[in-house]
Amino acid sequence: MVGRENPEILDTAASLLEEYPLCDRCLGRQFAWLSTGTSNDQRGHSIKLILSMKADEIIKSDAKDEGRKLLATLAGNGMFSPAQILAEKEALDYEKGKACHLCAVDVDRAFDKIPEIVQRTVKDTEDIEFHTVLAGSIPHPILAEREDELKGQHNLIYGETLRSDFNREFGKQVSAAFDKPVDFDKPELVVVYDMQNDLVRLQINPLFIYGRYRKKVVGVPQSRWDCADCNGKGCDACHNTGRRYPDSISEYVSLPIQEAAKGTRFKFHAAGREDVDALMLGSGRPFVVEISRPRVRTLNLPKLEKKIRKKSRKKVEVEGLRPTNRQHLQRLKSESSENIKEYSAIIKTDRELTDNEVRRAERELTNIDLDQRTPTRVAHRRSDLTRKKHIYEVRLKKKGSHELEGYFKVQGGTYIKELISGDEGRTVPSIAGKVGSACVCTELIVTAIHSLETNHNP
Ligand SMILES: [Zn+2]
Ligand SMILES: [Zn+2]
Repeated sequence: MVGRENPEILDTAASLLEEYPLCDRCLGRQFAWLSTGTSNDQRGHSIKLILSMKADEIIKSDAKDEGRKLLATLAGNGMFSPAQILAEKEALDYEKGKACHLCAVDVDRAFDKIPEIVQRTVKDTEDIEFHTVLAGSIPHPILAEREDELKGQHNLIYGETLRSDFNREFGKQVSAAFDKPVDFDKPELVVVYDMQNDLVRLQINPLFIYGRYRKKVVGVPQSRWDCADCNGKGCDACHNTGRRYPDSISEYVSLPIQEAAKGTRFKFHAAGREDVDALMLGSGRPFVVEISRPRVRTLNLPKLEKKIRKKSRKKVEVEGLRPTNRQHLQRLKSESSENIKEYSAIIKTDRELTDNEVRRAERELTNIDLDQRTPTRVAHRRSDLTRKKHIYEVRLKKKGSHELEGYFKVQGGTYIKELISGDEGRTVPSIAGKVGSACVCTELIVTAIHSLETNHNP
């Protein structure tokens, strides 16, 4: 009806406006992928302007009624003021005070509410420290449905969704109000506006702190160990503590960090773990502490290192605390079994070994691949598999008639106690198997962890 020689955009736009009241922005958004470097508002305004000029041209020609009808559409459903002025001049009747079909559920346009939503967001985040932000939204279900319906009825292949248009505008205004950059990849704060409930939801992304710990005493498990009898509820067996061990490395390390960061909870991720009765010395074991919903991100890390040491009564020491990210955490986990670890151990034998037997065991266990089936003592938390582990070096020294001191350099994930005892044939070869005597590990110390990830920065 606008004229066969006209581009299709104008035909489509005119028939959209005939059906629905649409603001400039929502009309322009249906053609968002055409002509970049402008805004949806501008697109919609320009389309309406050209249609108004077209209407005037038709009125001035011989098809007066057709032109008046288009003008009334632009003045009414188009809510377009140049068309309204022209309509008044032509004494045309049109419906006033319409609300946009795609961005207003009642009368208020979602876009017009943004400055007020941003003010609320600024208030809600007053006591939260963050450096990057991302804005999002959950469109009102009525608007989402109307958009789907409109898209289904018209062939709008160049359109953008309300959500992406709204998010971009919201993001721009949030970023300006906070004077902080938008980060699509790893924002520290995500602000989500729920249109239906008129609520701003804050997603505070976790804080990650890297470090290395040393465990100076035995009897402290890496993670909280609940009483097996009561599953942590508290019973006579655990003196109502709910725990098998009163403390843990993860709590000693993470709680002071969580407190300083004003977070809600923590997760402790370490590159492997030592047994509860083993020490972890040397330069320590790498870990990453993940703090949920932190309100503080700039922490005094040297002070925290001192606090951890003091609060654990020197059972646990940490060093090298520094902020890191989720990628580093994933690398730490995935590379843990590729690390090289060094241990020293005290081994009791059930008879006195000869120097020859000791030398031969050392030789035959150095630079070999071990077949190690999951030890029964850890079968409750690891699947029962036979794993191949490389043993770089074993050195043994007689300490007493029934005692050896051992030094081991092995691939991460090797169970040393079983390498010593043979674990009833589940670990092959073993020291016990090589010397033909029962062997038991009575003391174990992790003396070094050579991790690949230590050497590259996140
Ligand atoms: Zn609209
Ligand atoms: Zn209990």
